[in-house]
Amino acid sequence: MKKKHLISILTFFISTPLIAEPAHDHGSHSTNQHKNVPNKSHQHGVIEGFIAQDEHSLLVEFHAPANDLVGFEHSPKTAQQKNKIQHTLTKLKNQTSLFSINKEAKCTLVEKHIADSFSKNDLDKDKKAGKLESEHHSFFANYIFHCTEPNKLDGFTTQWFSVFPDTNSIKIQAATKKGVYSKNIKASKPNFSF
Ligand SMILES: [Zn+2]
Repeated sequence: MKKKHLISILTFFISTPLIAEPAHDHGSHSTNQHKNVPNKSHQHGVIEGFIAQDEHSLLVEFHAPANDLVGFEHSPKTAQQKNKIQHTLTKLKNQTSLFSINKEAKCTLVEKHIADSFSKNDLDKDKKAGKLESEHHSFFANYIFHCTEPNKLDGFTTQWFSVFPDTNSIKIQAATKKGVYSKNIKASKPNFSF
């Protein structure tokens, strides 16, 4: 199945970073606390973006440190913090305001999956484990398109920086019919060609 192939391309990206990543630094974490952190390390200010094409299918995925999107990574304690998470999930669901694929490729969204790692956590369990303040939380957004003109696929433009202004850059890794690419994009030039 096409989707399976796209996911295996994505797994390759995630397990084999094309660019060596510096260790994540929160400032407030000691080295010992980092040993207990179950989540994949991430760099604040940097969103990871993945684009994978397989014939007519196109996958776009983002992995974002929660700190960049909601301003905190501890388990939400107040109603305001919980609302902020919900509000961010809503923003991620609205992919048309986040990015676009060049229209000549005629891509239509067929599936999307939006998630955050906050909801996986049980607050009491965290307290018992003494790791309440040492968590790293992230948001994930995954979109699958069907493109009727995949040979015309050549551009990705994002409005991410206006929606989430705390993001400094998006590290994009892409695998399309034309090749494999890796590029850091910033608000000053928020597009990517392949
Ligand atoms: Zn973090």
